[in-house]
Order: sequence, then C-alpha cells, then structure tokens
Amino acid sequence: MKVVKFGGSSLASGEQLKKVLQIVVSDPERKVVVVSAPGKRYSDDTKVTDLLIECAEKHLANEEAGEVFEVIIERYASIAKELAISLDVVETISSDLKNLLNGDKSKPESYLDAVKASGEDNNAKLIAAYFQHSGVDAQYVSPKEAGLLVSDEPGNAQVLPESYENLYKLRDRSGIIVFPGFFGYSKSGEVLTFSRSGSDITGSILANGVKADLYENFTDVDAVYSVNPTIVQNPKEISELTYREMRELSYAGFSVFHDEALIPAFRAGIPVNVKNTNNPSAPGQLIVNERANSNGPVIG
Ligand code: ASP
Repeated sequence: MKVVKFGGSSLASGEQLKKVLQIVVSDPERKVVVVSAPGKRYSDDTKVTDLLIECAEKHLANEEAGEVFEVIIERYASIAKELAISLDVVETISSDLKNLLNGDKSKPESYLDAVKASGEDNNAKLIAAYFQHSGVDAQYVSPKEAGLLVSDEPGNAQVLPESYENLYKLRDRSGIIVFPGFFGYSKSGEVLTFSRSGSDITGSILANGVKADLYENFTDVDAVYSVNPTIVQNPKEISELTYREMRELSYAGFSVFHDEALIPAFRAGIPVNVKNTNNPSAPGQLIVNERANSNGPVIG
C-alpha cells in the first residue's frame, strides 16, 4: 500500500487534477491520497492558503473581505468547471466558508487555523467529487473521523501518538481515500494546523499510520540537484539519499522538505519517493534509512 501526497502546484487547476487522477489510478497500490490546498498556477499567482489568511485577517480586523472571498471561491469554481463536475460542491464550499468566516472569533489563533485548514479540507472534498465523477471508487475522509489527533498549538500542532493506532484502521476501507493535508483535531475537537507546508507532515503521519510500503510525495520538480539548477547548468542529480542526509540539507536551507515532515515515515522505516506530477515516469528521488554510499555522501 502506498500513501501519495500531492502538493499545491499539482492541484492548482483542472488540467493538473487530470494528471493526478491518472497517476492515482495507474497503480492500485495508491490507496491513500493526501492533498494540499490549490497552489500557484503560475509564478506570481497566490496560493489559496495565503488568500484564506488574508480573508481571515480582514474579518478579524472588521475590514471588507468580500473581494478576497470571491477570489477564493472562484479558484474552486474554475477547477470544477474545467473538470465539468457539478457546481453543487462549490456551492457547499462557499456556504461552509461563509459560516466559518462569520463564526466565533473570540480566540483569533484558533479562528485563523480553522480558516486556513478549510483550504485543504474543501480541496479534498472537490477532488473526491471529481474522482467519483470519473467513475473511481473514492471517498473524502476527514482527519476528525480518522482520529488524527494533534496538540493544542495553533499553527504548529504536533501529532499525538494515539493517532497512529486510529489511522491504522483506514487500511480496512475499500476504495481510494482522499485525505486533506495540513491539519488535525485536538482532543476537544478543535481544528489545528501544522506549520506551513504541513501537508507533507500529514502524508508522513498517514504513511506511518497505515504502515505503507512507500510514501510518494508528488511535487513539480524532476529531481533534486547537488546545486541550484536555476544558477548552474546541467547539475548532478541526487537520486538517493538517507533521512539523515535530507535533514542535514534542510538545516542548510535546502528547501525540498520541511525538516520535521519526514520523521513519522522515518520512524516507521518507510521510504519516501519524491516525484514530479508533470513527469510521473521519471524515477524521482528516494529518501531511505540506509543506502550504499557508492555515489559519495551528501552533505550540506
Ligand atoms: N496549504 C498549506 C500551505 O500553503 C499547506 C501545504 O500546502 O502543505 O502552507
């Protein structure tokens, strides 16, 4: 069984979602699909998460937020239109988000977390609807229902150990599970987000929880290079590295992964394969517990 995570740029448009569907159905082992909120479609586009933060901050400051709200809904609507799925799901997203924005603001940090998390949550619902519309047996599963429990630290929640036992039960479900990244629930039922880019953390937690054979992390690059490919021509690819080497690189400011994101997968000894949604047949990069050092060590 594989856990597959798709980042925001892989989910930013209907065209990207068609690639995602093909990737998922091309391998029956791909059972758990973790999704981010829609990301950037082009380099100066804005991520839905950033739009949600702006919208929530305006509401907290009692400022006019109608315009940014419309931009957010339009992002989901344009994806739904491109995929020719029923706009009912967008109606539901719009009314749920409106309720959330008009909800309790007595704890601003909790309010902000709930609004931020809606980006992934609504995207998971939209993607599950698209998979179903395409005849795929798929269901949206909420972190609450699955028992993904986290500490009470807004914007920096940490997974609670009992989550893993709860998540193991996802193995028994039939069909594909579409699971929103980036957040969990406190024991008292409040939504809390991980740190930014935290959908990678969710994927890693789920890989550990369901005891996956592989955690595939789909992004928008073919490989990781030994030097910055925007500066140096034809750089050498790093096709395999260990968790330790990965952490070393993260500390040195090498931003492929969030440095804590891989810990849950690492603890369960699950290899991670970073792959490209736009070129899924490329082998990508493997992050493993141990490797033969034939190519020399990777250091930051
Ligand atoms: N959407 C969230 C962010 O932009 C989480 C993620 O994409 O991993 O930080």
